[in-house]
Amino acid sequence: MCIFCKIVEGEIHSNKVLENDDFLAFHDINPSAPIHVLVIPKKHVENFHSVDGQTMAKMTPFIQEVAEKLGIDKSGYRVVTNNGKDGGQEVFHLHFHILGGGKLKWHHYHDDPTKAI
Ligand code: AMP
Repeated sequence: MCIFCKIVEGEIHSNKVLENDDFLAFHDINPSAPIHVLVIPKKHVENFHSVDGQTMAKMTPFIQEVAEKLGIDKSGYRVVTNNGKDGGQEVFHLHFHILGGGKLKWHHYHDDPTKAI
């Protein structure tokens, strides 16, 4: 069972923000911003490229509700999903990073000196 499935099952503790029958939001253990929350489907899906449109249609209002609960819906926030090896995905259970709570840096993420932008 993957680490996020264990969080869903309660085998691993998480600092929960919000949940419903389909999704769970919890604080990232290694935050990259003053607010850094992960949103996952409870059902195991490997990543963005393998998720179905119906799940995404339900996930959108859930993410919006999470942002409202965190109080960053007006100030702004970033939604990021890392997909696959080059995307920097480390946990292979679909998750959206919700980042906010301060002005976020924006830069090129390119990390391969052998490839031109
Ligand atoms: P990614 O690189 O997009 O796969 O991101 C994985 C994220 O999961 C990282 O930001 C980790 O800090 C986070 N993470 C890993 N294990 C846990 C955990 N047990 N509880 C909360 N966040 C976690």
